[in-house]
Amino acid sequence: MVKETGYYDLLGVKPNATPEELKKAYRKLALKYHPDKNPNEGDKFKAISQAYEVLSDPDKRSIYDEGGEAAIKKGGADTGDYRNPMEFFEKFFGGGFSSGRRRERRGKDVVHQLSVQLEELYNGATRKLALQKNVICDKCEGRGGKKGAIEKCMQCQGAGLESRMQQIGPGLVQHIEQVCRKCSGTGETISEKDRCKQCHGRKTVRERKVLEVHIEKGMRDGQKIMFSGEGDHEPESQPGDIIILLDEKEHQTFVHAGSDLMMKMPIQLVEALCGFNRIIKTLDDRDLVFSSAPGEVIRHEMTKCIMDEGMPLYKNPLEKGRLIIQFEVIFPDSIPVSVIPALEQCLPPRPEVEIPIDAEQVTLSDFDPKHRGQQQQHHRMPYDEDDRYDDGPGPRMQQCSSS
Ligand SMILES: [Zn+2]
Ligand SMILES: [Zn+2]
Repeated sequence: MVKETGYYDLLGVKPNATPEELKKAYRKLALKYHPDKNPNEGDKFKAISQAYEVLSDPDKRSIYDEGGEAAIKKGGADTGDYRNPMEFFEKFFGGGFSSGRRRERRGKDVVHQLSVQLEELYNGATRKLALQKNVICDKCEGRGGKKGAIEKCMQCQGAGLESRMQQIGPGLVQHIEQVCRKCSGTGETISEKDRCKQCHGRKTVRERKVLEVHIEKGMRDGQKIMFSGEGDHEPESQPGDIIILLDEKEHQTFVHAGSDLMMKMPIQLVEALCGFNRIIKTLDDRDLVFSSAPGEVIRHEMTKCIMDEGMPLYKNPLEKGRLIIQFEVIFPDSIPVSVIPALEQCLPPRPEVEIPIDAEQVTLSDFDPKHRGQQQQHHRMPYDEDDRYDDGPGPRMQQCSSS
């Protein structure tokens, strides 16, 4: 039992979620609420990042499960990382994000999630994806206007930053530096008439780009496919990257677990005891036929596997994992009483039960967890009998005659 579920609720998962489920939930939500896509949801983005940062760390998760958010906050320095959700996001999605900051100036990386079917990860596939990105305006070659029309911004003297004084108390002023509002931090202005007609002085234009994404055999949910230099391009900087993030859809039959595939297989009791034949349609549309070993009994939830029929290995697709089958034995609700002796002959003998002489005969009822009250009433029976003794038989007799 966890103390509170706030962080789990934020990510939309149950408190018993596996690390994989948490990762997937964070990935979805972080992309959805990223300030690039949803500028008004900055707080939500921060909250999701905080929640995931705590829950993705086994130590922090157990602190949270035991003591809730208060215990995490008390941890102090240990939880410092999540004050910058952007940095956490970039670390999670990798790519060129942070390295770009350290090296030369780079345009923004574009992260795009691509939904894929398990069949595509099994067989490989090519998908076409249309994206919008910023490219240098070809009309003005990224200058924003006519040659020589660019002037130094008068507001900030070309620095891109303006400083102003802010009164924060009586006789107390604070010196604040902020991005120049006139030139948006570029340090330059272009007069209205000289501005490039195509990009309106912004130096870049939006362009539709169609990417061919090659999904290779054995790729996994969450795997990244990089398109170096295909991201946003701003003047005087290197273009960013496009990062395609695979998002595997749930499959009707199979669950993908590393290089293995798993499936549940319902079988009738008669099949569990007397044997069966089954056909499995593979993800590349072959039919696998197999049967149980003669005389072997399949127990409920027993697992078996078929070697080399799991997922192909990434970069080594001729090798495959296992296909793991978990059996679900379907028991009949009842059997005709007349066949019991014959059936009993085929099964291992039942154990002898020695009944003590003073044993009490009771009835086995169907258990319904919702009807606890009735069970307690049964236990109270002796008191009812006592009451009847004290008050005489009157009330109970009336009940009988009225019904
Ligand atoms: Zn232009
Ligand atoms: Zn300026």
